[in-house]
Amino acid sequence: MAALIHIENLSRHYGDYCAVAGVSFDLQPGEILGFLGPNGAGKSTTMQIISGVLAASSGRVQLDGYDLHAEPIKAKRRLGYLPEVPPLYPDMQVDEYLSYCARLHRITRSEVAQAVARAKERCGLSAMGARVIGNLSKGYQQRVGIAQAIIHNPRIIILDEPTSGLDPNQVQEIRRLIQGLAEESGILLSTHILPEVQSLCDRVLILHQGRLVYAGPVSQQQQDRVLVSLATDNSDTRLLETLPGVRQVEPLGPQQYRLTLDGHHSPADIAEAIVKQGGRLAELRSDQDDLERIFSQVTLGEQIQ
Ligand code: ADP
Repeated sequence: MAALIHIENLSRHYGDYCAVAGVSFDLQPGEILGFLGPNGAGKSTTMQIISGVLAASSGRVQLDGYDLHAEPIKAKRRLGYLPEVPPLYPDMQVDEYLSYCARLHRITRSEVAQAVARAKERCGLSAMGARVIGNLSKGYQQRVGIAQAIIHNPRIIILDEPTSGLDPNQVQEIRRLIQGLAEESGILLSTHILPEVQSLCDRVLILHQGRLVYAGPVSQQQQDRVLVSLATDNSDTRLLETLPGVRQVEPLGPQQYRLTLDGHHSPADIAEAIVKQGGRLAELRSDQDDLERIFSQVTLGEQIQ
């Protein structure tokens, strides 16, 4: 299947300063791809380039197979963008505003009403058409922001911090809405909230100082580390330290340990050895690096133990 977003070796300079350096990645249909990085990493610059607001210094952007430089109108039609501050007009009614956005996307007059109804339905706004945007709650205003991004039914949606400033219930509603949108589109989701990426995304990109420093799953199995729980009180770390293949034992809590293995022994070997030595094994599983650990490792260079 062709990628919805295909980015190749993208760079952007501001004068002498390089804000984005040689970034390449793909967004696949049906995917919600997390886009993370510390402040100043180059996320907004990258999203602005993809959405055609800012020119790249070099590199290539393809949207749903169309080259953004060679065929900008066709490429941009494939994309809907919700900036960090949604471009809302507080004095307008929801229907009036969405109709205006539809016209900006060159939807023909006869199809505007249908496009507005569809975007409202996808965003849970069907009953809100006559409401003035400025009087809506922040959560509903954000829905209107998303509705304007999808009014032309794009296959690619870019959302920049879509849940910032919302209360926990509104956050849940917007996350459900995003999951629904992914059934028909691919989504690039920029956020500072790591649990949000963990709950919504299969894959994440981490940008640091303009470079892509991680592209992969939101957690990683670590075959050379296992978490062990023993069932007895009198077990001590000595039993674990003397097992063949164990390099390090780190107590985590009562009868719970993280073992670092030597690379020649599997978790199954360790389970067998514990039982052979008379240990009562309650649980043994491979350790995982969660997103927080991955993020600090690639952006702070922290050593993962
Ligand atoms: P992020 O969205 O990850 O916080 P940005 O893309 O906004 O990062 O910024 C990346 C870097 O480029 C930052 O160091 C920022 O100061 C710089 N930058 C962004 N926009 C401009 C601009 N218009 N002129 C000069 N420098 C800029």
